Amino acid sequence: MISRRKLLKNLSATPVIGSILGSWALSTKNENKPKTRNLFEELDVTPVINAGVTMTFLSGSLMRPEVLEAINSTAHDFANMYELQDKVGAKIAEMLHVEAAMVTSGAACAMVLGTAASITGSDPEKRRLLPQLPGPQPEVIMQKSHRYVFDQAITTTGAKIVEVEGPAAMEAAINENTKMTLFFNAAGESSVSREEFVAISKRHNIPSFIDAAADVPPVENLFKYQKIGFDLITFSGGKMIRGPQSAGLLFGRKDLIEAAKLNHSPHEAPIGRPMKVNKEEIFGMYAALKAYLELDHEKEWQEWLSRIDSIKTQIESIDSVKGETRVSPGPANAFPSMLVSWDEEKVKISPRQVQEALKSENPSIVTNVRRNDSGEDILSVGVVLLKPEQVNYVAGRLKAVLRDSV
Ligand SMILES: *Cc1c(COP(=O)(O)O)cnc(C)c1O
Repeated sequence: MISRRKLLKNLSATPVIGSILGSWALSTKNENKPKTRNLFEELDVTPVINAGVTMTFLSGSLMRPEVLEAINSTAHDFANMYELQDKVGAKIAEMLHVEAAMVTSGAACAMVLGTAASITGSDPEKRRLLPQLPGPQPEVIMQKSHRYVFDQAITTTGAKIVEVEGPAAMEAAINENTKMTLFFNAAGESSVSREEFVAISKRHNIPSFIDAAADVPPVENLFKYQKIGFDLITFSGGKMIRGPQSAGLLFGRKDLIEAAKLNHSPHEAPIGRPMKVNKEEIFGMYAALKAYLELDHEKEWQEWLSRIDSIKTQIESIDSVKGETRVSPGPANAFPSMLVSWDEEKVKISPRQVQEALKSENPSIVTNVRRNDSGEDILSVGVVLLKPEQVNYVAGRLKAVLRDSV
């Protein structure tokens, strides 16, 4: 067993954009220390280098050193979970300039809890019966173009989704069964703007919820939607905030957050009980948010651009290979990555074949293939989730795969 002091000591040697794996790798170089147990090897689990974007199936993001320290330093004592959620929530609310906040088991959980809160309020009987309330089915209004996979989190509560197009239809759809309105922030197009959506919801006294799960950077987005007037806002913890993957933020109006907490663990039975967040992750989510807010975002952005430059310089030594910086317009995943193209007459391999070759390595390197403006496949190499020492490694492997096809 590694002692807490040793772990913390190792953590302090982690580069700012590092991870626990990185620091453990460093520690194994020191011959005075016993070799650290490698659970990837022990269980034959392939380690993945994520040269893409945050993906749930690839374990989200790597937790910041501050988060690992929070988890390790709080694991040795019990806490009352009601008190912990209240105190952490109050602190997060203060940090985000909102009335109230809570830590959920992710953005999808926040959507279940926000909807449940809008349906039950503080009524214990409704909480007990959800998702099978007697009487008319609760309704949640969404724009037709905003329908997406994650809206199943809404219907999990027993509510049905009513689709609208345009402000007039939205207004007309509201009735006594309407319990909430949901705005998908990263939906491509909207027939009702955020401001109109909030205004219509407020006019009818219906809580409005915005799902902005993957929508930092920029950090300003953590403050933007409460200013517009949304009553409930969610962000994932395990994406670019780099908290625990099984944590997220729900924040906004105090009465709704209180009702959401009543629908959540540690209460024994409500709909959110199976969506428990452990004590360490609640502390960890707070630590992640604090570290993220205090980060030098401009410096981090420059670091990402310089990573692209460094990979580009290496691969462009091969005839016809070109690297190009692309900044996703957002609001989801709004950060730079590198598009790599080449003349397939000269480098005889397709983008998908390169992707497959890198993926099948050990460690597995995951990249993306996108469509360019002409509808052709193009390789996209992400840099924001790489550990510093992986930048050169990815460049080298990519270069090797391309060079072998010349
Ligand atoms: C990732 C994501 C979710 C789910 O978030 P979790 O934190 O993994 O529960 C919901 N909505 C959107 C738009 C997302 O990108």
